Amino acid sequence: MKTPPSTNWAASFRYGFRDCVYPTSVDALCETVARSKNLKVLGSRHSFNAIADGDLAVILSDMPVDPVVEADGASVSVGGHATYGELASFLNERKLAIHNLASLPHISIAGAIATATHGSGDGNGNLATAVSAIEFVAGDGTLVRLKRGDPDFPGAVVHLGALGVITRVTLDVLPEFEVAQGVYEGLSWPALLENFDAIMGACYSVSVFTQWREQAGAIWLKRKAGAYNWAEDMFGAMRSTVKRHPIIGLDPQNSTDQLQQYGRWSDRLPHFKMGFTPSNGEEIQSEFHVPRRFAAAAIEALLGIRERFVPLIQASEFRTVAADDLWLSPQYQRDTLSIHFTWVREQAAVDEAVSHIEEALSAFEALPHWGKVFSLRPIGRLYPKFADFSALRDRLDPQRKFSNQWLETVLSER
Ligand SMILES: Cc1cc2nc3c(=O)[nH]c(=O)nc-3n(C[C@H](O)[C@H](O)[C@H](O)COP(=O)(O)OP(=O)(O)OC[C@H]3O[C@@H](n4cnc5c(N)ncnc54)[C@H](O)[C@@H]3O)c2cc1C
Repeated sequence: MKTPPSTNWAASFRYGFRDCVYPTSVDALCETVARSKNLKVLGSRHSFNAIADGDLAVILSDMPVDPVVEADGASVSVGGHATYGELASFLNERKLAIHNLASLPHISIAGAIATATHGSGDGNGNLATAVSAIEFVAGDGTLVRLKRGDPDFPGAVVHLGALGVITRVTLDVLPEFEVAQGVYEGLSWPALLENFDAIMGACYSVSVFTQWREQAGAIWLKRKAGAYNWAEDMFGAMRSTVKRHPIIGLDPQNSTDQLQQYGRWSDRLPHFKMGFTPSNGEEIQSEFHVPRRFAAAAIEALLGIRERFVPLIQASEFRTVAADDLWLSPQYQRDTLSIHFTWVREQAAVDEAVSHIEEALSAFEALPHWGKVFSLRPIGRLYPKFADFSALRDRLDPQRKFSNQWLETVLSER
């Protein structure tokens, strides 16, 4: 046994682990699961709530990652605890890519798909949508393999860490591609709200960063290589001639390159570079996904109560995510606008602000990001396939070895 990690990455949440194991093989992991009463796998600890908390921490960093391009050349299989950054290095050597990345490449693949982590782009599903097969150790210590097309597969990909310990993940790959970023500043609220679809659909991946103040903020375009005209202005926002950080005032050297310079997909799709601290570190995050048709109304509702949360904001971001068929994905059969908040690290004040945001968004079928801060309450039943997920969980983990108080609450039937 080793000392378990005491906090998440942002040091905003304190884990209650009593012990910690580092299995070195799948067989050792199966034995650990078979004989344990309660265990939780820790990924890269980038979640902001108690989703990863438990009694025994299982850390897979001593297990091999062993990425392999599958015989079909269209997919890669890799240890689930690999980070997207590690995977990208392997893919880049083979001139391959995956469709999208989150704001940072430092997160583990298994942890990211657990919570339906996403990037942006009208045509881009969240990161779990790239998964074509998954292998995990179920509650009885046996290895389960599911692939796209199997009836249980869409229930097991966005897994909340509640179904088993993921050992391997197979992901769709694409030929490598280049992306360039350009930032347009000084976007007004009327320009955003009146041209929302045109702005968010302007290219492969679009983010709008806002501080919720007088102006809406800045458009960040991530454009695939092609013959584009990087106009001087975009709906009244002017193209920046200097590099920016998503959090206004922070050193942009941690941010991926901008200024319309093309580079590898993996060096542009995230906002933050692999070798640097992403974001701020001293922070808390929340995010709410609303159906795309409610985008403008949801933003207007938040503008109406912004004095309740503006003082706590470091950065806020609008992204769009395409619909999918994964049972616990907030994009299940709905395109979404995802409204993200990076808060100052003041938990009680953030909890209060979040409750106001949830109230303002309650008319818009909002679902919280599974890995970020929201008001703890049963939300599983907001998902159309919740009963099927519960039945799958009953079969794979009847003793609730992978559960914790947080999961029991959010997945309760009430
Ligand atoms: C700076 C920063 C930027 C972020 N940017 C984005 C973003 O752009 N988009 C977005 O959607 N989210 C973003 N997030 C949120 C983050 O992607 C999610 O919280 C994600 O779940 C973190 O993955 P992790 O590996 O750190 O998981 P952890 O927080 O370690 O764990 C999350 C869940 O996954 C489970 N888990 C982890 N590994 C395994 C495994 N091998 N087997 C079974 N279960 C496992 C854990 O038990 C837990 O239930 C960001 C977070 C931070 C801190």
